[in-house]
Amino acid sequence: MAQRHQLRLQINNDLASLDIELKALASQLQPIEPDCSLGDLLRSEMMHDQEVLNGAYIEAKKRYNSLLYAQRHLDDKKYGLCLDCDEPIAFERMLLMPESRYCVRCAKENNL
Ligand SMILES: [Zn+2]
Repeated sequence: MAQRHQLRLQINNDLASLDIELKALASQLQPIEPDCSLGDLLRSEMMHDQEVLNGAYIEAKKRYNSLLYAQRHLDDKKYGLCLDCDEPIAFERMLLMPESRYCVRCAKENNL
């Protein structure tokens, strides 16, 4: 099926760019030494930056894992069907988020 092929390429692309993003984030994530001679203000700024980076890292990692899951299940009959209502998920949505497991309506209803 041509659409599935397109989704496979999309997943591979997304995984490749997330991989680069994760590596870049990981290289910036460093514990701040408790006794480093920075002023308190700079220190708290740095800690805030680390928290933001850490949040971004966790989000990217989550999406990475969801995409890996989608990649493994791409050939399943159930792939592309909403887990909630069993209706096919719109292809535009699948292209944008190949890891989607709910259609737009169910995602909205369940706040996903
Ligand atoms: Zn649904």
